[in-house]
Amino acid sequence: MSLLVVGSVAFDSVETPFGKADRVLGGSATFFAYAASYFVGPRLMGIVGADFPEKFLQGFRDRDIDISGLQVDPEGKTFHWTGRYEGDMNEAQTLGVSLNVLGDYEASVPDSYKDSEYVFLANDHPRTQLQVMRSVSGKPFVMADTRDFWISEEPDALGEVMSEVDGMVMNDSEARLLTGEESIIRAGKAVMERGPRYVIIKKGEHGAILFGNEGIFALPAYPLEEVHDPTGAGDSFAGGLMGYLASTGKTSLQGIMRGMTYGTVAASVAVEGFSVDPFAHCDKDRFHERHDAFIRAISF
Ligand code: AMP
Repeated sequence: MSLLVVGSVAFDSVETPFGKADRVLGGSATFFAYAASYFVGPRLMGIVGADFPEKFLQGFRDRDIDISGLQVDPEGKTFHWTGRYEGDMNEAQTLGVSLNVLGDYEASVPDSYKDSEYVFLANDHPRTQLQVMRSVSGKPFVMADTRDFWISEEPDALGEVMSEVDGMVMNDSEARLLTGEESIIRAGKAVMERGPRYVIIKKGEHGAILFGNEGIFALPAYPLEEVHDPTGAGDSFAGGLMGYLASTGKTSLQGIMRGMTYGTVAASVAVEGFSVDPFAHCDKDRFHERHDAFIRAISF
């Protein structure tokens, strides 16, 4: 089944205790699409500038990612995020954000994407998320991400998003900020009261918790010895999860639980190196072998 993602496609400059990478391929939609491509050929929507290299576009095509909805602004520059991780590898310190073409982006869903059955609204202005979601025909299964900035600055628009989506994915700190609840369990339940049937709260190296009407499901992270660059872990998690759902047609609680195991494995691949490089070293067979190893690690 078809899977659409809208979000950022970026240049990232990142520093971690393991090294530095300058102007490498990043962005929420990028990590999502790379991870989802283990299951389906996702449709990507976003915007880049004239400075975006052809080799990055080719990298998307090579993984069967449909980029016919990726606008290239010939006058503009690509969004650029600069960040650093030190000590707490779960939390990025943002050192700089140059919105560039992302600042004036008018997301318009191309006709060829309008029949998408699964939609992921990566971290973006909630108005953009609403516009995209409402432009897709039929009744797609929609999940959305957000971040602290939108929780503080656009609470009403974000409230509308939450009342219309099937699922929300967010970090523990964002869930606390949104609900004012210190307990993650209370926070998850409080997010559900705003509308979504499913809420997934990500806790970095401590895994993720799913909240649904039928109950709660907690999953640890994949046990990795070294995390080289956490950038994109959350988006890769969502990509693995939604890629699995779109490839199987599942939207049940059981399906989401299973999908979360694939999301966890996708996130563990993403953090093994800078940018999307680790995906190049992990073909589908290796990905599924790692998933088998993860299932063994959590079964008893
Ligand atoms: P994650 O680590 O999964 O939360 O996502 C990291 C990605 O988000 C990076 O590759 C950045 O390019 C992108 N990013 C960071 N800040 C923003 C922002 N304000 N808007 C859109 N994308 C962003």
